[in-house]
Amino acid sequence: MLKYFSILLISFFLEGGVDRLIAFALEGPFNHQSVTLDAIKRFERKHGFELNFLCTAAIIEQITYSDAYFPKFDSYHCDNNNILGCSYRFRQVIDESEKTPDLTSGLVKFAIGLHIIHDMYAHSNWVENFEFSMILPPVDLFNAFPPPHWLQTGFYPDIFIENPEAQANCFTKDGNVIKNFIYGATHGCLNKDSWDSFRGGMLVPNSAISYHTLAGEYAIRHTEKAFETYFLKNPKFKMCIVPRTTGTGCNSAISEIITRQN
Ligand SMILES: [Zn+2]
Repeated sequence: MLKYFSILLISFFLEGGVDRLIAFALEGPFNHQSVTLDAIKRFERKHGFELNFLCTAAIIEQITYSDAYFPKFDSYHCDNNNILGCSYRFRQVIDESEKTPDLTSGLVKFAIGLHIIHDMYAHSNWVENFEFSMILPPVDLFNAFPPPHWLQTGFYPDIFIENPEAQANCFTKDGNVIKNFIYGATHGCLNKDSWDSFRGGMLVPNSAISYHTLAGEYAIRHTEKAFETYFLKNPKFKMCIVPRTTGTGCNSAISEIITRQN
């Protein structure tokens, strides 16, 4: 029993107490900013254009601060086992992003949607189940079609009062067991926010890749897909697109330099 509570205590301090840990935490190496910038670079390369600096900066700023702006709402972070709420919230912010005539407001809503996508991979057991198949979850459809019974994001905050022993037991499960729904699993047991998180530092079976790195790659691919699906089809967002002049993605490169300096 002492061992269980020791694990809980360590988990509690790793998570920074009851404050929300920034998903894809600053320890990284993947974080919300780097995931978004990598996706933008792939998106730009594919189409042969660039996003201008102001649009890129507006997206990066919002995606960075979603944790600070909405700390109490699990639907903005795909945790606390609220998959339906997460799916509903994603659809809501993307709809608002498409409908608002204001470019900046539209970008802010779009970025909130990207943050939700990232958190789905950082917080759920999706990547444990699909490993290197790189199948992306239909985040926007889970409110219409029930999510798989095994999909979970863990309770948040990291206290499962109902059964502390079950909460502690989650920390003894490997990636293959985590593919199932684990009773008592909390955010601290499941999250892959950084290499330093309990699960993020573990290696995917039969590979030298960590779950954090795999979750980051999933998040980049899904972010790029969101740019294709929602951003490119929105007429007002076309104002963000400029011809590629340097061959290196100058605008997103500037955003990257500023982001990494801060
Ligand atoms: Zn979050």
